[in-house]
Amino acid sequence: MSDKYRSVGFVGLGAMGYPMAQQLAKKLPNSSQIYVFDVIRQSIQKLCSQENGRFNSCQSAKEVAERSEIIISMVPEGSHVRQVYLDEKAGVLTADVSGKLMIDMSTIDTATSNTVREQALSKYPSASFYDAPVSGGVLGAEKATLTIMLGCAEDDAQLPLLQDLLGMMGKSIFPCGGPSLGLTAKLCNNYCSGLIAIATSEALNIGMRSGMDPRVLANIFHTSTAQSAICDKWNPVPGLCPEAPASHGYQAGFKVQLMKKDFGLAVDTAERVGARLALGKVGLEVYEKTSEDPECRDLDSRVVYRYLGGKEDWEKDFASGKS
Ligand code: NAD
Repeated sequence: MSDKYRSVGFVGLGAMGYPMAQQLAKKLPNSSQIYVFDVIRQSIQKLCSQENGRFNSCQSAKEVAERSEIIISMVPEGSHVRQVYLDEKAGVLTADVSGKLMIDMSTIDTATSNTVREQALSKYPSASFYDAPVSGGVLGAEKATLTIMLGCAEDDAQLPLLQDLLGMMGKSIFPCGGPSLGLTAKLCNNYCSGLIAIATSEALNIGMRSGMDPRVLANIFHTSTAQSAICDKWNPVPGLCPEAPASHGYQAGFKVQLMKKDFGLAVDTAERVGARLALGKVGLEVYEKTSEDPECRDLDSRVVYRYLGGKEDWEKDFASGKS
């Protein structure tokens, strides 16, 4: 049981990767060696010093690949995934990864993921490469409750191992049917939730400007056809969901620039597969402009409510309202 996890590598120790690597350290057998790399050396140093002896620092993605049987990556965009795997001097594929398992958990375009997989398999036919993007944010990474969308078939021979390993970082793991379909699932989800956030912001803004207490309106949505996780858990209007980023200055959520990236990738995918979009262009423009707005940049993507001019200090206008 423990032998299959003799050596596990992790590349990309950012907002998501860092707590995910910590979860692995907690759950892998004590005999497992964990090899880590990030282009930011301080991230490696912090992880290695905090988790005392559990992590081994590496100088490159190549070194991680040389020393690990399983290689996981979690970096921002397709260009970074290319760098991690395809860089001619220090990329993963410059190491001999025959028989090794590679899992990229970044949210990127399917074309890049397919290119990396094809190059990996043509050079090392006994290796395997999977896309496995996640949903659930930093909180989900810290609590190991991520939803993981795995680009593999139900009958893939590696599925039990993948479920066991990814289960150390997530709660719900869905095999999505085949290579790059994990990414497809992730992009479809974010396209939909991005639009719901805009629609919920707009609708609550219409109601409020017409004199309606947004608490009452959100409660009505909850039991009506406008119900959604965005309305119930991640409401863009400050003060409606106490735990939502909107109620804490839009801090510590899913950065609006990441939503712009994912939304744009979904729109590109739609074009490629011939799916007609009524809202793609306008939705993308909203996230592009919100990302550029100095009042919104770097904040949780539900800050679209602010970008759309929604009232944030509404409570004084509805002092007698009940939640
Ligand atoms: P981040 O920017 O916080 O972290 C990315 C890390 O990758 C950084 O530490 C960076 O230094 C490192 N990196 C970049 N290029 C590298 C390279 N060539 N080699 C080694 N390390 C490299 O990003 P994040 O928030 O952790 O997001 C990572 C991925 O997860 C993204 O694709 C994002 O869309 C996705 N995601 C993020 C969230 C979220 O809430 N933050 C939620 C779900 C999915």
